[in-house]
Amino acid sequence: MNYTLEEKEAFMREALKEAEIALEHDEIPIGCVIVKDGKIIGRGHNAREELQRAVMHAEIMAIEDANLSEESWRLLDCTLFVTIEPCVMCSGAIGLARIPNVVYGAKNQKFGAAGSLYDILTDERLNHRVDVETGVLESECAAIMQDFFRNRRKK
Ligand SMILES: [Zn+2]
Repeated sequence: MNYTLEEKEAFMREALKEAEIALEHDEIPIGCVIVKDGKIIGRGHNAREELQRAVMHAEIMAIEDANLSEESWRLLDCTLFVTIEPCVMCSGAIGLARIPNVVYGAKNQKFGAAGSLYDILTDERLNHRVDVETGVLESECAAIMQDFFRNRRKK
C-alpha cells in the first residue's frame, strides 16, 4: 500500500461517513471502505439494528460489497479502512478475503483483535498476514464513538 497520509485521511473520512449512517439508525457508529487502485470498491457500516443481523458489522458489509463489485471472493491488492479496530470475527473475515492491508482509526480495548485483545491480523500461526496501520484520524474516529455512548447513557 503506498497511499499518502492525505489520501489515507480522505479514505478514512469516507469510512466516517459510513459511521454516520450507522448513527442515524441509532447504532454503534463504525464505518468501513475498501479501496483498490485508489478507488472505493466496497462500503459498509454497522447495521446490526437496522437489519437485525448479529454479524452485520461495517467490515463484513464492506467485504460483501467489494466481493460483489469485483465478482471475486479474493480482495487482493486492496486496503480496508475502518474507523475502529476490527473485532475477532471481522479480523477473521479480512484474512478469508485475503485483504493485504488494513488501516484503522482508533483502538478498541474491549473487543479489538488487531492488536488490543488479540492480534489475529499478524499472527504467524495463520497463513494470511496483514499489514496494519493505526491512528489515521484517530481522534475523529474515537470521538464519534464516545459521543454515541455518552448520549446513550443519558437516555
Ligand atoms: Zn467486527
